[in-house]
Amino acid sequence: MREFDYIIIGGGCAGLSLAYELDLHKKLENKTLAIIEPRDEYRKDKTWSFWKVINHNFDDCVKKSWKNFSINSSTGTKHLQCNNYPYQSIDSGLFYKKTITKLKENKNVSFFKNIKDVNQNKSFIFNSVPTLENNKNNLWQHFCGFEIKTKENIFDDSIMNLMDFNCEQKESVHFFYTLPFQKNRALIETTWLSKMNDNSLRDYDNQIRNYVEQNLRIKDYEIVYKEEGAIPLFYPMDIKEKNKINIGTAGGMTRLSTGYTFLNIQEHSKYIRMNINNIQNIKHFKIEKKYRLLDKIFLKVLDKHPEKMPEIFFKMFNSSPNTIVKFLSNKSNLFEDFSIIFKMPKWIFIKALLKS
Ligand SMILES: Cc1cc2nc3c(=O)[nH]c(=O)nc-3n(C[C@H](O)[C@H](O)[C@H](O)COP(=O)(O)OP(=O)(O)OC[C@H]3O[C@@H](n4cnc5c(N)ncnc54)[C@H](O)[C@@H]3O)c2cc1C
Repeated sequence: MREFDYIIIGGGCAGLSLAYELDLHKKLENKTLAIIEPRDEYRKDKTWSFWKVINHNFDDCVKKSWKNFSINSSTGTKHLQCNNYPYQSIDSGLFYKKTITKLKENKNVSFFKNIKDVNQNKSFIFNSVPTLENNKNNLWQHFCGFEIKTKENIFDDSIMNLMDFNCEQKESVHFFYTLPFQKNRALIETTWLSKMNDNSLRDYDNQIRNYVEQNLRIKDYEIVYKEEGAIPLFYPMDIKEKNKINIGTAGGMTRLSTGYTFLNIQEHSKYIRMNINNIQNIKHFKIEKKYRLLDKIFLKVLDKHPEKMPEIFFKMFNSSPNTIVKFLSNKSNLFEDFSIIFKMPKWIFIKALLKS
C-alpha cells in the first residue's frame, strides 16, 4: 500500500479547501497527499453563504453577493446596508469543479475512496469526518431549501432576507431565509434551531411551499434545485492525537450561534498552510474563546426561551450593520461586543451565564 506525507479524510469543503490552499502555495511540490472521499461524483449540494470579512480563494465561485439585507419579525422589517462586508453565496458545484481540476493537475495528489486503500502509519492526517455524540438534548440547525424559478420577475435581487420569523414556531426557533439570485430566481430555505426530537418540524417541503404561496404570494414557479442539511450546534468529539488534526465541522469550525462555518474553514486552511513545516507541534486553531463562551450562553437562552428568540434576533440588529456583521463573523472588538450584549434582555442572559 502506498504511503503519503499527508492524508486528508473527507474531500468536502474543508478537505478540498485545505488541499487547494496547500497546492496554491506550493506546499505539495515535495510532499505527497492522499484525499479520501467516498462519493462517486461531485454535484452541487450546498450553497455556502457568509459576510466577506476576509479574503478567500473562491471569489470566482460566488454566485451572487448583496450589500443589503433585511430581517422580519411580527413587529416589522429592518433594512440594513453593509457596504464594507458584502454577503456572498458560493455555489458548491463551482467550488468542487475548481478545486478538483487544480488538484488533479498535481502529480503528488491522489484520490482514494477508502482509508483502507492507503498506508497511514507515517502520514500526518487531517480529518474532516466528525464523531458526533448521540445526545437527544443537543441542538441542531436543520434546514431545507428550494431554488425556485418564477415566470414573472418577482424578486428584488439587490436585497437578501436573512431571517423572516413570520411563520409557525412550534416551541422552537423557526425562520425563512431568501437569497434572490436573479429577479426570477431565489433560494428559499426553512430553518429550525431545535433538538431533533420532533419529526413534525421536518415536513420541510410543505413548509416551503406554504411560505412561497402564502407569504410570498407566488403561485407560478418551478423548483430547479433542492438542498437539505443539519449543522450540529455543539462541538464534535475532538480526541487529541499526535499525528492528526480535525478540520471543518469535525474541527470545531462552526460558529454555534449561527452555523456559519465556511470562512472559518478558510482561515483554518491558511493557518495550517502557514505552519505546515512544523505541523506536529503547532497550537490547534480554534474559534476565539470569547465567541465560544457567548455562543454557549446564547444557546442556553435559545434552549430555555425559544419563544423570545425572534425578538432577541430583531433587537440584535438594532446595532450598526458593520458591528453586527463583524460580531457574527468573529471579527468584532470588545467595544463592539459590548454594544451588542447591551441590546440583549439582561436577566435571562445573566441567568444563563451563571449556569454555564
Ligand atoms: C446544506 C448545507 C448548507 C450549508 N450552508 C452554509 C452556509 O451558507 N454558510 C456556512 O458558513 N456554512 C454552511 N454550512 C455548514 C458548513 O459550511 C458545511 O457543512 C461545510 O460543508 C462543512 O465542511 P466539512 O468539510 O466539514 O464537511 P463536508 O463538506 O460535509 O465534507 C465532509 C466530506 O467527508 C466525506 N465523508 C463522509 N464519510 C467519510 C468517510 N468515512 N471517509 C472519508 N470521507 C468521508 C463526505 O462525503 C464529505 O465530502 C452548510 C451545511 C450544509 C449541510
